[in-house]
Amino acid sequence: MKKTVLFISMSFCFLLGRTEQKVKSDKPNFIIIFADDLGYGDLGIFGHPTIKTPTLDRLAAEGQKWTNFYAAASVCTPSRAGLLTGRLPIRSGMCSNKRRVLFPDSNGGLPQSEITIARALKENGYKTAAIGKWHLGHKQPFLPTNHGFDSYFGIPYSNDMDKIEGDNYFQDNFIFAEDEYFHAYNVPLMRNEEIVERPADQRTITKRYTEETVNKIKEMSGKPFFIYLAHSLPHIPLFRSANFKGRSLAGIYGDVVEEIDWSVEQIVNALEEEGVAENTLVVFTSDNGPWHIFKTHGGSSGLLRGAKGGTFEGGMREPTIFWWPGKLKPGVVMDMGTTLDIFPTFCALSNTIMPGGRIYDGYNITTILMGNAAAERDVVLYYRGERVYAIRKGDFKAHFIIQNEYGTQTAHPITMPNIELKRDPVVLEKPLLYNVNVDPGEKYNIAGQYPEVLKEIKQVLEAHLKTVRVVENQLEK
Ligand code: MG
Repeated sequence: MKKTVLFISMSFCFLLGRTEQKVKSDKPNFIIIFADDLGYGDLGIFGHPTIKTPTLDRLAAEGQKWTNFYAAASVCTPSRAGLLTGRLPIRSGMCSNKRRVLFPDSNGGLPQSEITIARALKENGYKTAAIGKWHLGHKQPFLPTNHGFDSYFGIPYSNDMDKIEGDNYFQDNFIFAEDEYFHAYNVPLMRNEEIVERPADQRTITKRYTEETVNKIKEMSGKPFFIYLAHSLPHIPLFRSANFKGRSLAGIYGDVVEEIDWSVEQIVNALEEEGVAENTLVVFTSDNGPWHIFKTHGGSSGLLRGAKGGTFEGGMREPTIFWWPGKLKPGVVMDMGTTLDIFPTFCALSNTIMPGGRIYDGYNITTILMGNAAAERDVVLYYRGERVYAIRKGDFKAHFIIQNEYGTQTAHPITMPNIELKRDPVVLEKPLLYNVNVDPGEKYNIAGQYPEVLKEIKQVLEAHLKTVRVVENQLEK
C-alpha cells in the first residue's frame, strides 16, 4: 500500500491514545523550545565550528538528535500555525501568497475553530503557558490566552516589526544593530492580554523569557504542564544581555545563540531541581531556516541549500533535539519528522483524545522516540504561501515551483540552466529531482533518470490537493 496519506484520522489517534493508556499511568510534562530563524548548521551538535552550545549538545547526546526534521513552513506565521494545530497552515487560512506572515496592521489570526495543542492538553487537566513570540494574531481573540494557554508573556509578532518612522531605519541597521537600537522597534511586550512594556527591551528578552519559564516550571510542577517557549531570537535585529556580549567566537549571532543555549541550561536545571526532569519531554527546534540576506547576522543552513522563505532544504529542515531522560532511546534519528507530528505525539503520550472533525497532517512518533519502530511518515510537503512548491517522498524530493529566498531576489539567486529567476515563482515545465539522502545539498538534478519516481510524487501531490478546502485567508484580512 502506498504511503501517501498525510493525515491520521481521529479514530486512529484515539486508538493510539487507548493503547498508551495501558502502559502509562501518569501524564508527562511537555516543553517546546522554538527558536526563530535558527539555521540547520547553527548548533555545535549540528556542526557549527564556532558557536558553543554545550547544553543542547548534551541534550542531543542524552536524547535524540533528528537530522531530517522539518518545520511546517519556511516563514514564521504559517510555521507556528502548523506546529500548534498539527495541521498544514493551508487548512487554517494561516498562509498567503500575498502576505507571507501577519503584520502589526493585520486583522486576522488563528481562528477559534482551530484547536491548539494547549487547548487539547488543557481539556485533559494540563496547566499551560506560552512564553515568547506568538505571531498568530495580536488582536484579542487570537492571543494565546484565547487559544488554550493559562498565561502569556512575550511579544505578539516579530521583533523587527513596528519600526519607528523617522528613526533612520534602513536595512543595514540590522547589520550594525547594537544595544541602544532596540528603541527603533516599537514592539510591545505583553503579559496575558495587556501591554506591559513598549518598546520591549530586547536586550534582556531572552533572559526574561527564561526567568518566566523557570518560574512557570516551579509554579506548575505539581500538575502536568505544557510550556511553549518561542524565543524571538535569533531573528534579526539581534540582541543579547550584557553577560553574552562579545562572548562568542561567531560574533553577535553566536552571542545570541549561546544565550539561548544558556537558557536551555536554566530550564533543564529547574526541571532537575523540581524533580520532574524524568517526567518531562523537551523538544528543541526552529520555526524556519536562517535569514541569509542579513549576512553575518543571519544564521547558517550548514550543508543544506537555501534559507528562510524558500523550499530548498535550508528553508525548512531544522536542527531538532528531543530529550526525556531515562525514557527516550538515545541516538541520531534520520527518519523524517515534522513539527506537525508534535500534536498527535503529545496527545498519544498523555492519553489526550485529539479533537475530531478535521484533517491532521502529523504522525504519532512515539515509537521512534522510544526506539521501537521506524517512521510511518515518508512524505513531506514544502508549501510556500498557498502553493506546494516541492514534495519529498522517501529519499527523493521533487521541486515543481522554484523561487528565490525570502526578502530578496538577488542575494542568493537560484541559478538554474535555462531558467531566469525573478521575483515571481517559476513553475517548472520539467520538475527538478534530488536524492536528498545522497545529495542533501540538492546539487545534482536526477529527474531524467527517475521518471517513475517523479510520476509517483505527482500522484502524492494530486492526492494531497484533493484534501484541501478553501477557507478564509487570515493573513490578508
Ligand atoms: Mg522565523
